[in-house]
Amino acid sequence: MTLTKTDAHRIASTLKPESRAFLAGRFTDASDGGTFATTNPATGTVLAQVAHCTATDVDRAVAQARRSFDSGTWSRAAPEHRKAILLKLADLVREHREELAVLESLDSGKTISDCLHEIGNEVPTFFQWYAELADKSFGKVAPTGEDNLALIVREPAGVVGLVLPWNFPLLMAAWKLAPALAAGCSCIVKPAEQTPLSALRLAELAREAGVPDGVLSVLPGLGETTGQAIGRHPDIDIVSFTGSTEVGGYFLRYAGESNLKVIGLEMGGKSPFIVLDDAELTDDLIEQAAMSAFWNGGQNCSANMRQLVDARLAEDYADRVIARARAFVVGDPLDPATGIGAMVTAEHQDRVMSYIDTGAREGARLLSGGNRFGPGCFIEPTVFGGLTPDMTIAREEIFGPVLGILPVTGMDEALRIARDSDYGLHASVFTRDIDRAIHMARRLPCGTVSVNGFSEGDVKTPFGGYKRSGSLARDNGAEAMDQYLQTKTIWFCTANPGIA
Ligand code: NAP
Ligand code: MG
Repeated sequence: MTLTKTDAHRIASTLKPESRAFLAGRFTDASDGGTFATTNPATGTVLAQVAHCTATDVDRAVAQARRSFDSGTWSRAAPEHRKAILLKLADLVREHREELAVLESLDSGKTISDCLHEIGNEVPTFFQWYAELADKSFGKVAPTGEDNLALIVREPAGVVGLVLPWNFPLLMAAWKLAPALAAGCSCIVKPAEQTPLSALRLAELAREAGVPDGVLSVLPGLGETTGQAIGRHPDIDIVSFTGSTEVGGYFLRYAGESNLKVIGLEMGGKSPFIVLDDAELTDDLIEQAAMSAFWNGGQNCSANMRQLVDARLAEDYADRVIARARAFVVGDPLDPATGIGAMVTAEHQDRVMSYIDTGAREGARLLSGGNRFGPGCFIEPTVFGGLTPDMTIAREEIFGPVLGILPVTGMDEALRIARDSDYGLHASVFTRDIDRAIHMARRLPCGTVSVNGFSEGDVKTPFGGYKRSGSLARDNGAEAMDQYLQTKTIWFCTANPGIA
């Protein structure tokens, strides 16, 4: 699936993005008329003034969502009905993939190749997969004595708030919306303030597919206003949040100070990429090392920036990773040849640059890159060597194109350093020894471990974090539906009718 640079720019020049909130089945301004700007970080151009939804707008959306939920048009519809509509939505996303991908790339600075892959393949797959799950999720019959019958049924949990980050705007919307809608919930989506446009277009497609009015609202806005109003709303049953660990903590507080809504959290990471001494430094391994840190410009919760490489391999490894890093084209996100686009905002670019400065100041060796350039929010792919476990850049999430090599001696040291982290989202281990692979995979405290790869999985496999990377909730896989379902037991208590 490709798009030439000329075609991508042509589509970009014709787009007229919707920038009002989607509420009760139509687009509307914020109740107080407030707006905020969303910008293309590759050029600095303001793309749109977007509705800044207030607590009043959240109230209105929740009232609509509750009404639709209680009416049963979606929540109690036959699963086949929800399935048909979500399959139609998957088709519509596929049909509009080029327009959506260009819109996403403009709003976020992500490369057009990544946007096309995510929106042309992954997003529709999510709607399709959960659509298919809707009519294949069975309840249970409990083992009871003959005089009783106990059914365990799953019911849609109610009104859910879905609060999203900016690094995979439409994909994160699909990760949450697909299972929540398939389960029968009514949903209120708050996209990140940096990237609100693709979710608004998705709402239009959902309406076209047949999602009833009120079942889906998309409320753009800022975290402290719109996000907080969702977190504190007394009639929202569940919030599923993806974003930083700090803001995840706020949602737990909001829930505690309001209605004790259930909070599902997918948060930050500092994922180790471990290369043991028996690993063979193939071109494929080097490619995976570079992609695991630089994919999406490193703006990835599971980015494997912390590369723990056996000291005997570390020098050769560094030379080859540097060569690969320098081969990335950094620049115009709408050019399919570009491998690393723009950082999402100028403030985020500053934040990543300050980590690069801190790394150098604390004694890590800057081996390649390290500079910003513009116009636009670009940063060269950057490689540090000689990290030690206590350095700031070895411990904190950077969320930019920065790869750090930390030499280790032996499996035990690698495991000890890898485990010594506040986060637990993902880890990669490279070894040719199956016993070591199993031992490492079982001892690493994180939600996903990849052996001889860095993939974090796909729609079929649950994704989430240990420690400060997440709560017990999981996105993806059949487990994601559990976030949006209640469990009810129905007892049939029969009087013995006296039959022998
Ligand atoms: P963020 O700053 O935590 O924002 C996430 C969402 O929360 C945004 O919609 C944001 O709104 C909202 N928010 C911010 N402050 C709030 C507040 N005081 N009250 C209520 N809501 C608030 O995260 P981000 O910078 O967008 O995303 C990057 C983070 O997401 C990284 O830490 C990354 O690791 C994590 N992430 C995790 C996963 C995963 O699956 N574990 C996947 C992707 C990203 P505004 O946009 O207005 O600030
Ligand atoms: Mg933007």
